[in-house]
Amino acid sequence: MSDHGFAGWAERVAATLFFTLFPADCRICGSPLIKVSRLPVCDTCLIALTPLQGSYCTVCGEALHLPAYIDRGETGRGETGGSEADRVAVETRCLLCQRADPPFERAVAYGSYDGELRDLIHLLKFQQVRPASAVLGRMLAEIIANLEQAMPVGTLFCSTITVIPVPLYTRKQSQRGFNQAEMIARDALKQLSRPKRFDLCTGVLLRRRETGSQIGLTRHQRRENMRGAFAVSDPTRILNRDILLIDDVYTTGTTASECARVLRRAGAARVWVATVARTLKISDVIALPENLPENLSEEVSEDRQRVAAHG
Ligand SMILES: [Zn+2]
Ligand SMILES: [Zn+2]
Repeated sequence: MSDHGFAGWAERVAATLFFTLFPADCRICGSPLIKVSRLPVCDTCLIALTPLQGSYCTVCGEALHLPAYIDRGETGRGETGGSEADRVAVETRCLLCQRADPPFERAVAYGSYDGELRDLIHLLKFQQVRPASAVLGRMLAEIIANLEQAMPVGTLFCSTITVIPVPLYTRKQSQRGFNQAEMIARDALKQLSRPKRFDLCTGVLLRRRETGSQIGLTRHQRRENMRGAFAVSDPTRILNRDILLIDDVYTTGTTASECARVLRRAGAARVWVATVARTLKISDVIALPENLPENLSEEVSEDRQRVAAHG
């Protein structure tokens, strides 16, 4: 804890007491709260926190949408886009994952990073509303439970899954007072039916420097920006392990990919990724022809706003 740790703690206790004794307005929609709760969010906003629905890339979790020319059964772009085989391929893997395997096995998310879910994550991260973590942890637990069925866990060496929250840079963590990814991971693990199968492991993956904003960078620039940002302190703790990497938000996937790459290079067997939310870039992926320049493949203006809030 930082030097203003006690003051920060006292302030948080006071704030929690205040909100418990004198419920104010919902911190998301502003409507008056009618019941006492540690979490200053109304039921309507909580009900709006719904899981993703639709078709998603089975590898990276990106939303899939059939290109219109395939939907219409046209051959478009001189290719035989309308065949059944093509449809299946497009529906199961996004074009980016068809081109190259990411360094992780799968990335899954509970919901879309917008609306009430985004607001709730911001309440935790930027306004220190810690009770939000329990709700986010419940969502994460749900998505981990789904993922668990698909994880062929157990290398010859270990039958548990090593859970690693994406670390913050030390200065950022002491400013915030906590790492939201770790907090949400802890809350999620409490909810799982077989918690002994999971082994939370902090302090192994380190963030060696601040990576700054990814806004406006091309994919290539984002990768460069991340280079050397993460390191493994003690490879023996992850050697030949199955890793579940946890973060609050998956935006461009650069952070998750870089962490997975570093973990695997240090000896991890496989890496899965679970986040509470993710940004969806449906239109980018549909429209992505084979030879689109990299800098156009993920960034669109609307997307930049979504990415803006993610450290
Ligand atoms: Zn509300
Ligand atoms: Zn994909």
